Amino acid sequence: MATLKEVISCTSDYDPDALTVAKANEVIRSFVRPVSGVEKLPVRAALGRVLARNIISLINVPSHDNSAMDGYAVRSADLPQTEAVTLAEIGAAFAGKEFAGKVGPGQCVRLMTGAVMPEGTDTVVIQEAVTAYGGRITIPPGQEPGQNRRLAGEDLQRGKSALRAGTLLRPAELGLIASLGIGEVSVRRKLKVAFFSTGDELVSVGKRLKAGEVYDSNRYTLWGMLTRLGCEAIDMGVVRDDPKKLEAALRKAAASADAVVTSGGVSVGEADFTKQMMAKLGEVVFWKIAMRPGRPMAFGRIRGRRRSAYLFGLPGNPVAVMVTFYHFVRGALLTMMGRNDIELPLLRARSGTAMRKKPGRTEYQRGVLELKNGEWTVRVTGAQGSGILRSMSEANCFVVLGHEQGGVKAGDPVDVMLMDGLV
Ligand code: AMP
Ligand code: MG
Repeated sequence: MATLKEVISCTSDYDPDALTVAKANEVIRSFVRPVSGVEKLPVRAALGRVLARNIISLINVPSHDNSAMDGYAVRSADLPQTEAVTLAEIGAAFAGKEFAGKVGPGQCVRLMTGAVMPEGTDTVVIQEAVTAYGGRITIPPGQEPGQNRRLAGEDLQRGKSALRAGTLLRPAELGLIASLGIGEVSVRRKLKVAFFSTGDELVSVGKRLKAGEVYDSNRYTLWGMLTRLGCEAIDMGVVRDDPKKLEAALRKAAASADAVVTSGGVSVGEADFTKQMMAKLGEVVFWKIAMRPGRPMAFGRIRGRRRSAYLFGLPGNPVAVMVTFYHFVRGALLTMMGRNDIELPLLRARSGTAMRKKPGRTEYQRGVLELKNGEWTVRVTGAQGSGILRSMSEANCFVVLGHEQGGVKAGDPVDVMLMDGLV
């Protein structure tokens, strides 16, 4: 496996003191590797997990040609050209109950949605189109040969790949797997991610605040994001700004987890002792990223007892924690989970508000995307300070102002990223 130093040496325009979001992600994604470890689970228990192996379909779904509508199965050769045609109804077929005989010229069979197409027929005329009288079915012209027929294997074909390794198993995939008659799937094991907050000013909920203290909210947002991402989140509490305690916490975290996420302690004043201490534990780089919020960040790999873990040292400000998690840690953890779809789509929306912005950094303003007069419009959620967590809570999207971009006038189009993409 390449060292972080090697990965960085292969990265062009690498400047740790003014790193673009894209470069930081390039380094992170080329350094992290999927974890090994696969387990077999019943289909429902696999919801939210990542498929470890391709699923090859052993059957055709559907297994037979069948009807997409309630109506009459006919032979396309019997369909009327210019004048209506009358056929003899010789029986019926239902979903799960086939018509046993063969349909000859001039004949038809009544059938319901999902019923197997009777032998000799290839077309379904919907019941609303015909006139039925005493077993005689009159069909008007204007029918297409093959209409309203579902073909065997049109959903999933025998011998072909139904789902690829790396697919997130959502409700649609659970159903798809069940439609193949499969009851158990091989999924990647859950990622173990240890997390803790650093800071002498932090107080855990349930205790009384003294002057200058703040409640530790980062451990709650981090727990929530890790859990929604499908990780096993290991809460290691609050660690004081003391190199010895920090070192012990990092060693312990690295010994038990695949990745360690910390908040606080990487800003310029604090980074010096952290840097020296982290350097002892493995390979860690300190970045100033050209972004707002969330400029400082540490990234690397640290050793615990007998094993090592990726380290994400996030800034302390509550919004910066969420934004850096969203835009760096999320993709890294999904890569480690073996996911094959990581990028989040950007949508274009009209900005309802003007936004000041300097070229040379990426900004993630918190926004509300809403439909106004038939057009998707986005407005920012008030004050955007990196300590104002309400700006995240009120938002349903990020307004992504790109690296090169300058300010935005009200009415300009902007890029928007929906927050539900986290899961
Ligand atoms: P730092 O990055 O450690 O300098 O912290 C930057 C700011 O974020 C300071 O105002 C801290 O009080 C605040 N902060 C750091 N950690 C937390 C936390 N876990 N919960 C809430 N605020 C925090
Ligand atoms: Mg701090």
